[in-house]
Amino acid sequence: MATRLKPVDAVMIGVGWTGGILAKELTAAGLSVVGLERGEPRSTEGSFVMPSIHDELRYALRYELMQDLSRETITFRNNLNQTARPMRQYGSFLPGEGLGGAGVHWNGQTWRFLPYDFEIKSRTLARYGQQALPPNSLIQDWGITYDELEPYYDQFEYTCGISGKAGNLGGQKIAGGNVFEGARAREYPTPPLKPTYAAWLFEQAAKELGYHPFPRPSATLSQSYTNPDGQTLGACIYCGFCERFGCEVNAKASPHITVIPVALRSGRFELRTRANVLRINLDSSRKRALSVTYLDLKSGQEFEQPAEIICLTSYTLGNVRLLLLSGIGQPYDPVKGEGVVGRNYTYQASAGATLFFDDKIFNSFMGTGSVGVAIDDFNGDNFDHTGLGFIHGASITVGNTGARPIQSRPVPPGTPRWGSAWKKAVAQYYNRSFGIGAQGADMAYREHYLDLDPVYRDAYGLPLLRMTYDWGPNEIKASQYLAGVCEKIGRAMNPKTLVARGLSGHYSIVPYQSTHNCGGAIMGTDPKNSVVNKYLQSWDVSNVFVVGASAFPQNAGYNPTGTVGALAYWTADAIKKLYLKRPGPLV
Ligand SMILES: Cc1cc2nc3c(=O)[nH]c(=O)nc-3n(C[C@H](O)[C@H](O)[C@H](O)COP(=O)(O)OP(=O)(O)OC[C@H]3O[C@@H](n4cnc5c(N)ncnc54)[C@H](O)[C@@H]3O)c2cc1C
Ligand code: SF4
Repeated sequence: MATRLKPVDAVMIGVGWTGGILAKELTAAGLSVVGLERGEPRSTEGSFVMPSIHDELRYALRYELMQDLSRETITFRNNLNQTARPMRQYGSFLPGEGLGGAGVHWNGQTWRFLPYDFEIKSRTLARYGQQALPPNSLIQDWGITYDELEPYYDQFEYTCGISGKAGNLGGQKIAGGNVFEGARAREYPTPPLKPTYAAWLFEQAAKELGYHPFPRPSATLSQSYTNPDGQTLGACIYCGFCERFGCEVNAKASPHITVIPVALRSGRFELRTRANVLRINLDSSRKRALSVTYLDLKSGQEFEQPAEIICLTSYTLGNVRLLLLSGIGQPYDPVKGEGVVGRNYTYQASAGATLFFDDKIFNSFMGTGSVGVAIDDFNGDNFDHTGLGFIHGASITVGNTGARPIQSRPVPPGTPRWGSAWKKAVAQYYNRSFGIGAQGADMAYREHYLDLDPVYRDAYGLPLLRMTYDWGPNEIKASQYLAGVCEKIGRAMNPKTLVARGLSGHYSIVPYQSTHNCGGAIMGTDPKNSVVNKYLQSWDVSNVFVVGASAFPQNAGYNPTGTVGALAYWTADAIKKLYLKRPGPLV
């Protein structure tokens, strides 16, 4: 029997970027907020200290900052005819756990999506006609435009102190920035990071080919910065232990040093860690949420936390699973094409090239999660797709996230896989190679979805989330094309050897790709094909808001968190300005 606690105004289920932003904004509006986080509390001083935070084995290979898979994982299959099996070891993606969520061990590449991304279906139909839509796809417009979201992108970027260079200020294109981006109201809060040598070579090659290189927008900051909430971040020292690690000098914008301390300072935010939420409880009409039931992992006791507003901020996978476990919204059935929860699951389709040189040294051991130079000439609809057989594309970058000594073993094809020749090649190329990466969009298809696994359960006896996913035809074609673009730019840098790669065959959850799981609780204008309205409010239960990349109807050619952060601010604003005045459906 769960112990019933004193009611509060709002509950956050999960305290990473989205939970932290909403907690900060709602406490500032005077609300009492409880944050329930299944992982441990974390702080820079206590958790990310030198030298132990640079322990590659502990953090990058044994995944100490990530979700504990022995308690909860997902099951996976490529298609409906297969039996899904549990993901017992980490591979393709690395969901976070603990205060700050994956926002602590992220890379910090902080993009805005293109205006085209939010209106992809209508713009594709207008320019290329019905036949251009990928067969069997469920792509749709978001129900919100870039212009509506722009002030909230700005708010997130200024919270983080993003380092970058604008390419479109109020409609005026600026050389050296991303000239394809939507109009922004003001410049980035801090200037770009210093480019690495490899990124500089890429920049020169891209320019020679007539493309438009610019510094990748970065949450690893070029200089010390104090944000509008009074939180001060440090300057990055390019330590190279960034992706999969917490930052020892507070130079990587993360929830635990930006939004969460502000919420706590208000005196209206109560944080409960090691609190694993099991479900949201509804009233008998099933149109109103009453409370949240969670398991206190310290005592093993169950608690019921009543609240007026419940925000699901537990990352894409947690958001969708908790909706399904709580019976909120109709689960998606891909055979009948009915239902919505779990629909439009998407990921990220990549391509790239690895370059090996004999005459250049790149100091690959240095770098940050997001330093780099990018081009957007082959992203979105920034190029003519007529006759190509696919829509959308990718941002293409050369970065230097830090070549970790255990995991970084780039050797040219034909190198023996062990022995003295292998050792020689590793020693030669560890510091004389780099990659060009294309981070491609992913369209939604009828048969790619999330639901509850009928067999496997977590440590608390609840069904695991089941993922059914594979590469779509649009993504394979796009990826092959983008591999060719990477190769062309790479060849312009005169490497000794170049290996290009595009997608083929089937998606595998074994190699790491990106933690950019999207969809499953998508936003839209119609409850028949979306789970939440434009304010990320559940169509079915109006005091539940579902915030995160779960809301993306399909994924874009970028990392998601710039848009996730913007949507969290957008939802917070809707709650403060609209919902609190008139609780109930906002649309
Ligand atoms: C290695 C890595 C690199 C990345 N690099 C980038 C990048 O460069 N750029 C970019 O845009 N994005 C990047 N990402 C993705 C980025 O981290 C996420 O988009 C972002 O953190 C999502 O924020 P969120 O609030 O939705 O989820 P999270 O930050 O993951 O927070 C969710 C929280 O909810 C908690 N939770 C889940 N279920 C429950 C439950 N039942 N009860 C209680 N708590 C629960 C989790 O423990 C977690 O702390 C990266 C991710 C990884 C792993
Ligand atoms: S690379 Fe920079 S931001 Fe990243 S962990 Fe090191 S110092 Fe921090």
